[in-house]
Amino acid sequence: MKLTTYLNHELIRSKRLASEDPKRSFAAAEMVLELSSKHQLRLISGQALFHMAYACRVMSDYGKGLNYAFQSLDLLKSCEDVIGICRAQNIIGIIYFYFGAYDDAISYFLSALPLAQKASDANLETSILNNIGEIYREAKNDDKAFKYYEKALKIALENALMVNASAIHLNMGEVLFHSKQYDKSLTHLTRAYVIIKDMNHLLEQGEIETKLGRANVHAGQLSKARDYFLSALEKLKVVENKFYLVDLLVEMASLDVISGKSPMRNLNEALEIAIAQKFEKKVADIYLLISSYYESQRDYRMAFDYYRNHHLKLNEVDASNLSKKLEILSIEIARSNDVSERHELNIINERLIKDVEVQKQALEQMREKHQELIKENQYDELTEVLNRRGLEKRSKQFFENQSRIKGVMMILDIDYFKRYNDTFGHVRGDWCLKTIAKGLGELFRDHLFGRYGGEEFIAFVRCETKEDAIDLMEQARKRVASMAIDRGLSDGTTVTISVGGTFGELSADQIRQAVDMADKALYQAKDEGRDRVMLMPANLL
Ligand code: GH3
Ligand code: MG
Ligand code: MG
Repeated sequence: MKLTTYLNHELIRSKRLASEDPKRSFAAAEMVLELSSKHQLRLISGQALFHMAYACRVMSDYGKGLNYAFQSLDLLKSCEDVIGICRAQNIIGIIYFYFGAYDDAISYFLSALPLAQKASDANLETSILNNIGEIYREAKNDDKAFKYYEKALKIALENALMVNASAIHLNMGEVLFHSKQYDKSLTHLTRAYVIIKDMNHLLEQGEIETKLGRANVHAGQLSKARDYFLSALEKLKVVENKFYLVDLLVEMASLDVISGKSPMRNLNEALEIAIAQKFEKKVADIYLLISSYYESQRDYRMAFDYYRNHHLKLNEVDASNLSKKLEILSIEIARSNDVSERHELNIINERLIKDVEVQKQALEQMREKHQELIKENQYDELTEVLNRRGLEKRSKQFFENQSRIKGVMMILDIDYFKRYNDTFGHVRGDWCLKTIAKGLGELFRDHLFGRYGGEEFIAFVRCETKEDAIDLMEQARKRVASMAIDRGLSDGTTVTISVGGTFGELSADQIRQAVDMADKALYQAKDEGRDRVMLMPANLL
């Protein structure tokens, strides 16, 4: 087989894999690039770079994608490959769009559009028209967006470009949903779905199913909605598209709420992915959703906590938008041949770097202030129960008017919590810790209770007998066990605590000793298998 035939064949394979398996698509294109560069086959190299950029886009790796797209554009321009140039400009526009640089995106789309028309490439033409519509939608200019979608749809249907038609219907459905025209929205979504249902386009299917699920939630068709969501979940996990996966989990959380379930599991998973992928805007949105959920539960402290996170994150989004501009700019500077243009870009670059610095400092100040408040507060930042400092202060007050108090001093420690973190991740670990702290805090509301450190809590509760002491410790253990089920702290495995305690008459200067004894009892409870309580004889008290 001739090399060029082989390489073209591989390019076709890369293209075919693009949306269902972007990693393999990228690898195939990269291999083509290597071989074609070696043999100075510039046209093929340019096309390979385009496919690499495309795969990066599917994998949400936008910075890299933009770089490849620019390299592709340069090569294809030198080969005067009109369609190639048009495609490269289109993907650059798309990536700019994801970066939030709408002006740049529009300008690339508008230079690509006449090329597509000149080459009578209806596929590209509809894609570009649709993309312009997307930008207007994002800029909240629905009428203009709709005009572009309609133009695009007409051409797509005339040329039997069904995948494109499906994507355009999806976008029209989205605009209509946001302008509250639910029936019309559902019509377009259904048209989009009918077209793509039996094709091998997992990403698109997952995206449409998410939107259909949402529309059904809205229409009160909950079991239909659930089916769409589960089907979308499967697909988006296969293509590893985290961007749409987060959207899906958020929609699933809203279904949970309507079905009377806690949305926290889905919101936490969405949050965890969004944090890991640095989808900062989504993180901010999810914080707000969590805050509203807690507000609906009348848990105003948690609501406030997440609201504060939301606010802080929005500030970070501003800062990271600037950083994104910097990323784009550095790519642009690197590829600019024009000395004066380069000079200008460098000036903008320096200004942006300064802006980023100022923003960072402001953010740091906000964080410091936040920390100070928490210190003054004596409450633990994460769980919002008393922290160690608060515990000390409160216990002094507790013993102020009485020299000795009869009661039980206990330490409560989550079992195998390290494993929990390893299994479910730290974000969820934090949430579990908070939930347990809240439950125990309610139980010991009128007593001394706080976070001793890590996943350990401490409580001192007045009581008269050893039996009362054991009963109190058991109440705490059982409360966590039942919360583990009710609040969905984990799937399958259970979440338990062990409790160590000492009972006796205590004076202020014996607190430390009592804590030590309780700690020894805790060790014993752990030793004997966990999920149990252990009371040490209070011989020293
Ligand atoms: P054991 O049953 O013996 O108590 O096992 P364990 O894993 O709970 O105990 P270990 O002391 O080995 O580990 C405690 C773990 O608690 C380590 C750390 O991952 C976790 N942890 C402590 N503080 C926090 C926190 O603020 N957030 C989260 N997510 N995890 C925490
Ligand atoms: Mg521990
Ligand atoms: Mg533990």
